[in-house]
Amino acid sequence: MTATLPILYQEIRCPLLEEKAISLTVKRMDLVHPELSGNKWYKLKYNIQEANKQGHQQLLTFGGAYSNHIYATAAAAKLAGIHAIGMIRGEEHLPLNPTLLYARTAGMRLEYLTRTEYRKKDSPDFLDKLKEKFGRFYLIPEGGTNALAVRGTREILEGKDLDYDFICTSVGTGGTFAGLVSTAHASQKVLGFSALKGDFIHQDIDRLLYQHQIHPSCDYEIVGKFHFGGYAKYNSELIDYIKLFKAETGIPLDPVYTGKMMYGIMKLIESGEIPRGSSVLVLHTGGLQGIKGFNARNNTNLPLT
Ligand SMILES: *Cc1c(COP(=O)(O)O)cnc(C)c1O
Repeated sequence: MTATLPILYQEIRCPLLEEKAISLTVKRMDLVHPELSGNKWYKLKYNIQEANKQGHQQLLTFGGAYSNHIYATAAAAKLAGIHAIGMIRGEEHLPLNPTLLYARTAGMRLEYLTRTEYRKKDSPDFLDKLKEKFGRFYLIPEGGTNALAVRGTREILEGKDLDYDFICTSVGTGGTFAGLVSTAHASQKVLGFSALKGDFIHQDIDRLLYQHQIHPSCDYEIVGKFHFGGYAKYNSELIDYIKLFKAETGIPLDPVYTGKMMYGIMKLIESGEIPRGSSVLVLHTGGLQGIKGFNARNNTNLPLT
């Protein structure tokens, strides 16, 4: 879990960027580890360390059937030699989709919860019942955001990353965003592109910053208008954009998080909301494991790698 590959930085060129004199660099966190990729590597590393320290034999977490977090937790547990239990929202569907097949193959025990049960995932009574059923476990919340996850995401920005005018990330629970705004410099602005529809994310971020006592010196903003209808929703424009981006840069994007972010970044550059002459660092937070299942479910043909 400790050794990582040196992270690749890839500068993107295209007529729009040229016209606006904008330098745009992608930090390929998706390549940080072949199985435990993107921001999930940062979010899980101190949690695994803590689980080991507390002498736990197993982890338990929650997620949807196509969840990057479930996939990453299964990978992290395998790497650390800890057993993992994945509490999956909804009914079992066989054959397993590619995400759950990987998780199962990595050794994760899969258990299914009805949507009603799933809503109790944070209640102490419900968690006590799970402890009776499975024995003692180290709990990682749905989406993986907790204090140790934020500690990990504080390590994302380093060195030259702190020289860019803008830092862009995709946002789910906001754990990654919280870590980024805690370390970005005063001269920088962190833009978080929400993958979910709804204004609740602003409150969630405020709560996270308060909980983790983060007082950003940088400027920051959640961009809420590039969700394409909601979580994992899409249209043909998004699909075409992801294919074009891959063809022109060689960089694969996923349709749930990074594809929507990159589409949004280009729109903000077009409109001048990201001003002419800016330098932009885009964090590729991973999520590529989800493409296979997305293609199968929606009959799309997005490139996988
Ligand atoms: C999980 C995930 C996110 C969201 O991270 P949060 O810390 O929950 O905001 C963004 N991008 C990708 C690819 C992810 O897998």
